[in-house]
Amino acid sequence: MPKPILYLCLLGLQLSLLAQDQIIHCGHLFDGTDKKLSRKVSIFIEGNTISKIENGFAEVPEGTTLIDLSEHYVLPGFIDMHVHIEGEYNKNSYLERFTLSEADKSFKAVKNAETTLMAGFTTIRELGGTGVNTSLKKAISNGTIDGPRMLSVNKSIAITGGHADPTNGYGKHLLCHMPGPESGVCDGKEECMKAVRQQVKMGADWIKITATAGVLSVAKDGKGPQFTVEEIQAIVETARDRGVKVAAHAHGVEGMQRAIKGGVATIEHGSYMDDETMELMKKHGTYYVPTITAGRAVADSAKIENFYPAMVRIKALLIGPQIQGTFGKAYKKGVPIAFGTDAGVFQHGKNALEFEYMVEAGMPEAEAILSATAVNAEVLDMADKIGTIEEGKLADIIAVKDNPLEDIKTLQNVRFVMKDGKVYKLEK
Ligand SMILES: [Zn+2]
Repeated sequence: MPKPILYLCLLGLQLSLLAQDQIIHCGHLFDGTDKKLSRKVSIFIEGNTISKIENGFAEVPEGTTLIDLSEHYVLPGFIDMHVHIEGEYNKNSYLERFTLSEADKSFKAVKNAETTLMAGFTTIRELGGTGVNTSLKKAISNGTIDGPRMLSVNKSIAITGGHADPTNGYGKHLLCHMPGPESGVCDGKEECMKAVRQQVKMGADWIKITATAGVLSVAKDGKGPQFTVEEIQAIVETARDRGVKVAAHAHGVEGMQRAIKGGVATIEHGSYMDDETMELMKKHGTYYVPTITAGRAVADSAKIENFYPAMVRIKALLIGPQIQGTFGKAYKKGVPIAFGTDAGVFQHGKNALEFEYMVEAGMPEAEAILSATAVNAEVLDMADKIGTIEEGKLADIIAVKDNPLEDIKTLQNVRFVMKDGKVYKLEK
């Protein structure tokens, strides 16, 4: 056979394998359109799309693959709004900035992405690294490597000396140059606009700013404001022109309020959020991404001798434990909640711990699951594609063994993962 024809045949074979129809028999289904479970449902999948949903266990025609989840609880793939995929905090993290190359980070990122997908997280919003995350996003989306669907901010934007200034805490003699807007460090409206445009140019789908100081940077303050309202407005408006929304890291009230008034879409951590700020969140429709798991993890790590630099340790012990209580209050007050963990500050693949902590703080199980599915899809402006199991949506489907509405911890043991119609994990 001449070579071009052979290739065409192989291509045809591959396409027909990809297009193989599948039917999932779900013992129980939480489809994410409401808070209820249904019994015995069949999901029909054509290619990467859910083509039909039917009550009962449908017959499986010849040539169609049956995925038997009749003993499982089936849910939409989870979405984590706050992940740092390039690494994992450890005792050497501060040194690794000097010892790890981009290539070193890339290998770690590949492993972290796979771990995250296998934990049932089929979409993540990557909230800041060195830019490796944007390359990773491309590699996943073109099928080179396995991982969750990604949206990325590329690199966080900070003020000079602020949380996410990559040279913060370094001796001046170590610096070849002071980082500017090109490196995501900016002061004043003009520079802030340039920093946003630069990140979008590098491939960012979202913009992340550090609206206040932070826990893990080598700086004394952990919660003071770091951008002016004018700067934040300039960032949000510039991002809006490019069709991009803004996420704001914030621990203290002043910075949080400036960010909300400036028009950001999500507040990350929100550790010291008070009643007044919660009301402001509701008024502006700003989502709270709590990252309780990270708060608890930094407080735990700080108890280990020399895990963090001394300055960081004090902040981790003080600020970390605040978040879960703040989340409980915000939920009761009706602040819109979007699920996000800050994985990378703790071990990748443990993202589902957040569900347990949310429930522990007073959020009912079904609402916690919705925050990681339908709600997050809405915040990402992707509700037409992901977040629920409905006809016409992408086939991002996971399953667990026990009823998550009775035992939320079962979500930490995901047995089945399908993304875009492709099965990545199937354990009975
Ligand atoms: Zn973070």
